[in-house]
Amino acid sequence: MPRLSPLPTPAEADVEAWVAEHLGHLALEGRDGVRAGAMAGGQSAADAALAALDVTGYSASRSTVRPVARQGATRMSPYVRHGLLTLPAMWQAVAGAGSRDRDRYRDELLWQEYARHLYARTGTRMQQPLRHDPARGQQVDVDPWATDMACIATTHAELVEDGWLVNQTRMWMSSHWTVRHGRDWREGEDEFFRHLLDGSRAANRLGWQWTVGAGTGRPYGFSRWQVQKRAPGLCTKCPLRNACPIEDWPDATAGPRVEGADLGAGPTPGGPAEVESSGEPDTVWLTAESLGDDDPALAAHPDLPVVFVFDEPLLRRLRLSGKRLVFLAQSLADLADRRPVEVRLGAVADELSGRRLAGTYAPVPGWQRLAPRVDLVRTHPWPWLVRPTSAPLSSFSAWRKSVRW
Ligand SMILES: Cc1cc2nc3c(=O)[nH]c(=O)nc-3n(C[C@H](O)[C@H](O)[C@H](O)COP(=O)(O)OP(=O)(O)OC[C@H]3O[C@@H](n4cnc5c(N)ncnc54)[C@H](O)[C@@H]3O)c2cc1C
Repeated sequence: MPRLSPLPTPAEADVEAWVAEHLGHLALEGRDGVRAGAMAGGQSAADAALAALDVTGYSASRSTVRPVARQGATRMSPYVRHGLLTLPAMWQAVAGAGSRDRDRYRDELLWQEYARHLYARTGTRMQQPLRHDPARGQQVDVDPWATDMACIATTHAELVEDGWLVNQTRMWMSSHWTVRHGRDWREGEDEFFRHLLDGSRAANRLGWQWTVGAGTGRPYGFSRWQVQKRAPGLCTKCPLRNACPIEDWPDATAGPRVEGADLGAGPTPGGPAEVESSGEPDTVWLTAESLGDDDPALAAHPDLPVVFVFDEPLLRRLRLSGKRLVFLAQSLADLADRRPVEVRLGAVADELSGRRLAGTYAPVPGWQRLAPRVDLVRTHPWPWLVRPTSAPLSSFSAWRKSVRW
């Protein structure tokens, strides 16, 4: 049943306290442990990041880990993840960059798009190996991330405190977890998902599948060599520098081919291409997939109030870090400066009962589950960079070749 009243709308000045009070019982760290991560949520923060976006040197420095000042990573992913910046907008934003950096950057945006297509096609089956059994080293009972090794300890601290990692250290951690230490990749993926401000099942599962060899049959091996190349300072100050446990490559190889989800030629659901309407909406329903001012349903109905529901049963199950909840609440607080925003907590269908909603299709299983259970009278198309077709999704390069502009 719906609660009698919505939560108070969060205000920018005290978002952490708001999350602790209203959502703290759902947070991984509990009420007293709620803290913001490294990036602030909200359209204003996303716009500022976009205005400062400069991809000069990106292709050469994208994989740099240390020194931090030399990292080429643009740290836009939390905004992309929650639809505060769309992929078409990001694509356009780098149009004036030098061709080498622009093309490399756009390639990464296409990886994000590919992950979304893959997730739209496979849904929850993406938590199963797509093409091969993962490469699993000799299994250990201890937590492979609880170590004195500077490369893993520093990175793990960033995951937990900042909620953000460069791509390179995501590969280190996931490889260390499964390829060297034989742990189940889905547990590691869940742990990433709980902490990452950009945590999405689409990109996170793709990243893990790729690293552990489940996507390609070729696992990514992590050893001292990468640390010396990408972050030499970490190695020189490591307490284990004279007894490095990852001096050599892990020797695990990917397992046999598996019958995963069908990634061959066949339809990938992309949602409506045009607005679908069966009546007049009275409210815009925002989801965590699409919280930006350019959300198609939001932009099309400037005079309607907005509702967002924190899905209590789902959050109770996921146990997300407070950082992620703060990011979402900051985004709602920022939007509330421009639009009336009602924030609710409970079961989504119950909380939205009695409303005639306008919403934006989202290519995730959560949308498929919830949309039929609410009174959605107007559905707006998802802002794809490349609309899904029937192209094969068996590899990024196969999919990439099929893209027609
Ligand atoms: C094990 C593992 C888990 C990952 N989990 C996630 C996740 O939960 N959410 C997520 O958005 N990305 C994930 N990635 C992909 C990638 O690491 C991040 O998107 C990237 O590090 C974000 O930093 P950035 O914004 O500085 O990226 P940049 O290098 O500046 O790239 C620009 C944008 O391109 C996209 N992008 C870049 N690389 C990738 C990639 N390999 N796959 C998909 N999109 C990419 C992102 O939207 C990013 O913001 C994961 C990768 C691995 C190996």
